[in-house]
Amino acid sequence: MRFSPISQESSDVQFAMPFLDERFDTIHQLLRRQNLSVMPGPFNSQADVSKAYRESAVIMTRTLPHEAGHAIIGLALNAGDVLEWIAVYVFREGEPGGGCKWGEKSCAPEHPLMSSAAGMAGEKLKYGDYSVDLARLDKADLARLGFNLKNLPELIGKCSDLIQSHESAWKELQQLLYERTVSDLTNRIDAIRQGDLDVGVVTGQEARDIFAGKAITT
Ligand SMILES: [Zn+2]
Repeated sequence: MRFSPISQESSDVQFAMPFLDERFDTIHQLLRRQNLSVMPGPFNSQADVSKAYRESAVIMTRTLPHEAGHAIIGLALNAGDVLEWIAVYVFREGEPGGGCKWGEKSCAPEHPLMSSAAGMAGEKLKYGDYSVDLARLDKADLARLGFNLKNLPELIGKCSDLIQSHESAWKELQQLLYERTVSDLTNRIDAIRQGDLDVGVVTGQEARDIFAGKAITT
């Protein structure tokens, strides 16, 4: 997915919100104000344009607990020292998407499985379900690791328990990702339009500090 400029003015037609969420509302308003969408065009009608803003905002909002979930599980499984960054949207080698960047580290065979399921667990904890779109790459990773997806609910449950035992760090990480995303969508819009800015970046050190219970000043 990538940000694409939308040239048409969006209408003021009110749509039912996919879910009530203050973060969604703020991100949705910013995307509309900046004429940005992460959905592929073309958009042929006002309804298409409005839908693109809404879906983009849903994806970005859900990415917050999703990526924070990946990060917290990695930190809890002792891989924090190789966490390089977390971002809500990144543009690397022409392939945009939310993500956590990890260095190499040897670990127990179950850890990569939990790491892959962690985003779905984070989203489910926050919103009661996970989105198929954000889960696609994670499910592909699990399949590649030889995991039987029939056992996914159990694996997600295990991740949820671990995330919940670090709930305040998980929430604080989401909040920092959210604040950075809002700041980037407000102040760094030209770089985002050109596709050369990662959105909402939190560094590995900041994530480690949050996990260790240290306060982050933004
Ligand atoms: Zn994921």
